[in-house]
Amino acid sequence: MNSSEINTQNINILIVDDTHDNLRLLSKVFAGSGYEVRPAPSGALALSAAVASPPDLILLDINMPGMDGFEVCERLKDYPETKNIPVIFISALGETFNKVKAFERGGVDYITKPFQVEEVLARVEAHVSIARLQNALRHKNAQLKTEVAQRQSIQQQLELLNEQLEERVKERTQALQEEIAQRKRAQDELGFLAFHDALTGLPNRRLFLQRLEKALSENENEYAILFFDLDGFKIFNESLGHFFGDSLLSAIADRLREHVPEDAFLARLGGDEFAVFISYNKDERKVTALAEFLQKQLSNPIHLGDYELLVSASCGIRLYDGSEHPVEVEHLLRDAYMAMFEAKALGKGSHALFNLNMQSSVIERIELERDLRKVLEDNSEQQLKVFYQPIIDLNSGQIVSFEALLRWEHPTYGWISPLRFIPIAEETGLIRPLGWWVLNESCNQLKYWHENILGHDHLGINVNLSALQLKQVDFLATFKSILTTSEINPSNLKLEITESAILGGIAGEVNPLFELSALGIKVCIDDFGTGYSSLSRLHEFPIATLKIDRAFVRRIEESKDGAAMAAMIIALAHGLGFEVVAEGIESENQLKKLKLLSCESGQGYLFARPLSRDDATKLLESNNRLMHEKA
Ligand code: C2E
Ligand code: MG
Ligand code: MG
Repeated sequence: MNSSEINTQNINILIVDDTHDNLRLLSKVFAGSGYEVRPAPSGALALSAAVASPPDLILLDINMPGMDGFEVCERLKDYPETKNIPVIFISALGETFNKVKAFERGGVDYITKPFQVEEVLARVEAHVSIARLQNALRHKNAQLKTEVAQRQSIQQQLELLNEQLEERVKERTQALQEEIAQRKRAQDELGFLAFHDALTGLPNRRLFLQRLEKALSENENEYAILFFDLDGFKIFNESLGHFFGDSLLSAIADRLREHVPEDAFLARLGGDEFAVFISYNKDERKVTALAEFLQKQLSNPIHLGDYELLVSASCGIRLYDGSEHPVEVEHLLRDAYMAMFEAKALGKGSHALFNLNMQSSVIERIELERDLRKVLEDNSEQQLKVFYQPIIDLNSGQIVSFEALLRWEHPTYGWISPLRFIPIAEETGLIRPLGWWVLNESCNQLKYWHENILGHDHLGINVNLSALQLKQVDFLATFKSILTTSEINPSNLKLEITESAILGGIAGEVNPLFELSALGIKVCIDDFGTGYSSLSRLHEFPIATLKIDRAFVRRIEESKDGAAMAAMIIALAHGLGFEVVAEGIESENQLKKLKLLSCESGQGYLFARPLSRDDATKLLESNNRLMHEKA
């Protein structure tokens, strides 16, 4: 008999009852309806049967010895595999049955004995269905839960990926921005470098000319262009190295930057050349005052590392009053450049205003430089000669020495004064080979005189030495080699050096003069009184003689003050233990006064002009004869 709507096959029912008859009856009823039935006669057996193989439903008698139905039901709730099994309690009518307790303990229904079979079957069927639906629901729920969990984890992963992606996008954007910024910087820098000088950061020649052009086209104003070139910068660069030279140029750029007026435009044109342009309202004095002011600022000592450097600059000025039309800015700058050369010829730290005559003098200068190089390579035509001017002991009238003075007989210009070509040689560095050549010639000449003319065993030779030679790295080696080859006695050699070569330039460095003095060679300060005289500092060096410049000698006759000045210098020199030689003695009167002032020796046209080698030899011979005659 199967009146139910569900398929009872495979539905497993555990029937628990301690009363045998009940157990059998119920088993029979359910088995007859197609259920799978397992009977359990006690609570304990029911529990283990249910845990071992969970049934679909349990019919549970309440009143049993040992473990009663309520306890069994309670225990079933402890196990996950049994906690959801629907339990229908069975109780005998008349037994005290607490329905509320039955539901509290987890039962889903109850049946009271005696029961009607149909009712039991119907209740069981209903609860199996409910349990199945509940199971399915639970299953679905569990599935949903895992799905939700999965979704959540996917969501989390997605969020993480998103974050990572965003991070990467951010990083990439930053890298891109940096790259763009870098490119822009590089571009800016290139743009900057195209118009600025990399070393000093000052505008370059291009920008200078551009701005000058703009200024001239926009304003009616008159402009002045000042062209500065450092004097003897080569010496610093070559003796201290280019790195040092660069630092010096930067320091000079800073100095100029600090002192140029606000309305002026400053640039570095290249090398040691700087330029300024400024509106000047036809006030020429304003421009020369500016040149002098900037030159003064540059001449203040510059401290670099342990060195205290003294530099000076020559300045060429080109004035533009707007009357010349059209005008090329390049030509204005070139004119200032030419004026700068003219300033150089006036002496260190000078300035000169451009005029039209300068053009030819600059061309001449360039030619001289070229020709000087040529003649230094090949002097077979003897364009270069050394002349000798005697230096006389003012007491005895005897020739004590000769000053070697360079002469150049140029094929086109004739005799050129050393005052003209020596500065060119200094600027270009040609003074070094030239100076060594003179030293060699002079030493050989002295040797000749010592060997061939009697009575001049103590004759000395004075040779002029340039600062550039003194600062040559191989100065001593070159010097000694010339000295050794000529075989002259070092004590007969006197070197004439200017004050600025000794004091100026580099302080704190071991001066090669000390080594010269150790060799027995004497040092003489040339043109004393024309530079920045510092008698006390001169005393630090091994100097034997001061040669008073002819400007002072001339003034002896000119005024009382001049005479007093010469007297003071000579007294001071003697006080410091120097011997004094007067330069440029032209008159008996000068000679007389110098003798009165106890000046030891002198040279000048009064005694003799600089003489050719042969004439000097003749003079020595006649002097000799004179001496013999006197004797
Ligand atoms: P300095 O060493 O002071 O030479 C003296 C100059 O005064 C010489 O001019 C000489 O001719 C001139 N002098 C001599 N006595 C009189 C006089 O009574 N009256 C006048 N007015 N002048 C007189 P110089 O030969 O023209 O030389 C000029 C300068 O050129 C020299 O001045 C020296 O600084 C430089 N110099 C000449 N030869 C050499 C050289 O071989 N090496 C270096 N480094 N410089 C040289
Ligand atoms: Mg001299
Ligand atoms: Mg002199």
